[in-house]
Amino acid sequence: MNLDHLLESNRQWAEQITAEQPDFFKQLARQQKPELLWIGCADSRVPANEIMGLMPGEVFVHRNVANLVVHTDLNCLSVIQFAVDVLKVKHIIVTGHYGCGGVAAALSNQRLGLIDNWLRHIQDVLKIYRRYFDALPDEMTKLNRLCEVNVMAQVLNLAETTIVQNAWERGQAVSLHGWIYGLDNGILKDLDVTHSKDADLRETMHNRIKTLLKQAK
Ligand code: ZN
Repeated sequence: MNLDHLLESNRQWAEQITAEQPDFFKQLARQQKPELLWIGCADSRVPANEIMGLMPGEVFVHRNVANLVVHTDLNCLSVIQFAVDVLKVKHIIVTGHYGCGGVAAALSNQRLGLIDNWLRHIQDVLKIYRRYFDALPDEMTKLNRLCEVNVMAQVLNLAETTIVQNAWERGQAVSLHGWIYGLDNGILKDLDVTHSKDADLRETMHNRIKTLLKQAK
């Protein structure tokens, strides 16, 4: 397939920005100084820059299937380490989205292949809260709540990485946030689990998740 139209559209985009800000790319080429790290889903419908209205240079991005922060994932950990230790980002946002295919596959226990092992991390979260999920009225409610709970669990994983723990220990200001995006309305919602210091987040998050699931009944 010929992709010339994409290269042409890129040229027009670059020309348009240069017309408005002649030094835009020259300045950016010298350094990046983003204040945000976005950890989001690889889903094509959830592009970080576009949905926050940000230009190149404003957000450092890591995306994988179902926005997971796994403690042995060198790719994700390297991104977090570079963002925190070198770029000194002030905020890390874990963003999930409703209707996430990865979360849906984990919920329904579908067999899809290699990715089942990746999605197992969501199933581990689901197991902890199984009795609360079993009490939810329908599959759509279960999926929506698991999309939210997954974000909250990943914020906790993020808080427990040595990278974030060390940053907090040396007094570096890094706030963690959990957001969720609506594919059907384009709106980002704050799940209100913002955290910026080393306290007993595990207990707090566990209680927040239980409260969310009890309310959803
Ligand atoms: Zn997704």
